[in-house]
Amino acid sequence: MNLKLHWKIVIGMVAGIMWGILSLISDWPIEFTTFYIEPFGKIFTNLLKMIAVPLVVTSLIVGISNLKDIKRLSRLGSKTILFYTATTLISITIGLLVVNIVQPGKNLPIEIKNELLQNYGEESGKHLEEAKKVQHEGPLKPLVDMFPSNIWSAASDNSKMLQIVFFAVIVGIAMVSIDRVHAKPVTAFFESFNHILLKIVEYIMAYAPYGVFALIGTLVVQMHSVDLLFELGKYALTVLSGLLVMIVIIYPLILNFFANINVFDFFKGINPAQLMAFSTSSSSATLPVTMKNVEKNLKVPEEISSFVLPVGSTINMDGTSLYQAVAAVFIANTFGMDLTLAQQLGILLTALLASVGAAGVPGAGIVMLAVVLEAEGIPPEGIALILAIDRILDMCRTVINVTGDAMVATVLGKPKSNKKLTKKKRAFFN
Ligand code: ASP
Repeated sequence: MNLKLHWKIVIGMVAGIMWGILSLISDWPIEFTTFYIEPFGKIFTNLLKMIAVPLVVTSLIVGISNLKDIKRLSRLGSKTILFYTATTLISITIGLLVVNIVQPGKNLPIEIKNELLQNYGEESGKHLEEAKKVQHEGPLKPLVDMFPSNIWSAASDNSKMLQIVFFAVIVGIAMVSIDRVHAKPVTAFFESFNHILLKIVEYIMAYAPYGVFALIGTLVVQMHSVDLLFELGKYALTVLSGLLVMIVIIYPLILNFFANINVFDFFKGINPAQLMAFSTSSSSATLPVTMKNVEKNLKVPEEISSFVLPVGSTINMDGTSLYQAVAAVFIANTFGMDLTLAQQLGILLTALLASVGAAGVPGAGIVMLAVVLEAEGIPPEGIALILAIDRILDMCRTVINVTGDAMVATVLGKPKSNKKLTKKKRAFFN
């Protein structure tokens, strides 16, 4: 039977959920899953991370060296930042609107609150320590962090993706600036290497259904305090409805207005990346799949996607920032604080910065949430209240993060050129 890959992944996901439920209700020892199933999930995420750095380097170098005019690059850079900032601001605003309407946490029973604070106090302490480290760094630290002092050490750490992007961009620019004859062998090498890496992504994706089975199965088995999850239902539903607004209303609207693509084709094309984001909770690990989907299925030119997507996987997190806004108001509510408009605007700004600072790895959003809370005078220990349900929400917000990156890459790579756009807007895109 020749099933499409995304169906195979869905089957892996469902089988993982069934495995988890079955082992929970049959009281099978958790160790079996952690010793013999979990490693296959880890292998899968490791493989994805393994390919990310070389893929970004080669496709960026190939992409930029194909650019006829280097000025286009700086225009692409400013448009990317503009779209990323705008979508993140829209996303946080939607989060704040939804949370102010639903007001989760206002009536959380005190016993539940204490139970959550007690059960998750230790875990939240660890996140707070990590957040403290971030806070002690000056405001220009993220800027300094973009410039690698050693390219090999940057390339050995996936969290240094912006440094890799910086290096690859410089190499690409230099290649276009020197005599073609001198650049030719290097261009040919990277072009060939790029093809090889894309083939490897295909191999990794063939393993995806099994990897996803292992990841989801382990997650269900390790889920604890299921009854507490229900108490947090209203909060979770608030986050989810905000995320839903982004994916069913905002992104289609933006695509419709700015991109030359049918919205359904867009979602069909990036479906495997979304499934991957959901299963791994990591936009960085999903990056190779996002790049492949956006280039192959949506036909976005490599010189656009190879720049926009890696930058997005590190700095653009619509889902994470929306979740941070909702979580901050939820925690404030449970502590009986009524946030003023100024404080909510403060959340808007700090959540924007925090999502830029958050790495594309599981749980990064909650560490940065502590920074947002502290900045707005909300007790940061409150993150213990939401930890029980954080992993599930992490899976969902990562889907939005990845979709947002792909959406901007599509808008910039396939701009609308019909009469709907005014002359000025057309000029902006070209
Ligand atoms: N897991 C998210 C991502 O990788 C970040 C977060 O919100 O924790 O995009």
